[in-house]
Amino acid sequence: MSGSALRPVYHYCCKHAAQRITRAGFLRPSGFNGYDVLWVTDQAIPDRMGLGLTSGMLKCDRLEFQYIAHVLPDVVTPWLDSPIRRELAQSIDYGARGFLREFEHGHAPSTWLIATRPIFATRNEQYRPPGDLHPGRIPFQPIDL
Ligand SMILES: [Zn+2]
Repeated sequence: MSGSALRPVYHYCCKHAAQRITRAGFLRPSGFNGYDVLWVTDQAIPDRMGLGLTSGMLKCDRLEFQYIAHVLPDVVTPWLDSPIRRELAQSIDYGARGFLREFEHGHAPSTWLIATRPIFATRNEQYRPPGDLHPGRIPFQPIDL
C-alpha cells in the first residue's frame, strides 16, 4: 500500500457516538433522508459554525471527539458532487429541496465529504474541541506539566 495515495479525513461527534465508534472500531454510515451517509471532512481543525455541527438545544457537543481515517481518494466524495445531493436537489419533493437549502446554508458544504461504506478510523486523543458550546461553559485550558 502506498502511503502517498491515502488522504486523511476527519469525523467529529459527541461522546455518545464516540462510544459506539470505539466499540465498533470503525466509522459507519447512518441514516440521512433515506440514505446511508458517513460525514467526514478534510478540516483537521474544525470550524464549529462552518461545519454545521452546532448543537442548538442539545446537550451533546458534536465536535467533542475527532476520529481520523486515512482513505483512498475514491472512498470519499465531496458532498456537493455526490449523487445523493444531486437526487435531493433534483427531487420533485419541495420539502426535500427546502431541507437541502437549509441544511447547507451558512455551513460551508464545500468542506463536507461523504462515504457510503464503513471506514476504519482511530480517535485522536490529542484533539480538543474548539470554542464554547454553551455560554458559561469553562473552555478547555491545556496545562503544561
Ligand atoms: Zn450525544
